[in-house]
Amino acid sequence: MGKTLQWEVSVNSKWCKKCGLCVEFCPRDVLEMNDIPTVKDAARCIGCLMCEMHCPDFAITVKRRENNG
Ligand code: SF4
Ligand code: SF4
Repeated sequence: MGKTLQWEVSVNSKWCKKCGLCVEFCPRDVLEMNDIPTVKDAARCIGCLMCEMHCPDFAITVKRRENNG
């Protein structure tokens, strides 16, 4: 296996208003709504930033992370 590129999605629970927009707009079904949105399948994330762009409260961020191995 070569390098795999992964995306790290994190939600700021202090800012999140639990509107669920990020979950609705994710085209890859990465997120699910619990108390706050949580990542249910990080491997499906393609880093499209739809969740980040649609969050009205700037509470969700997507960062690229490189893993070796
Ligand atoms: S970056 Fe795209 S694929 Fe990844 S969680 Fe956000 S909306 Fe879903
Ligand atoms: S769109 Fe933003 S405020 Fe709404 S549930 Fe997602 S992270 Fe929380």
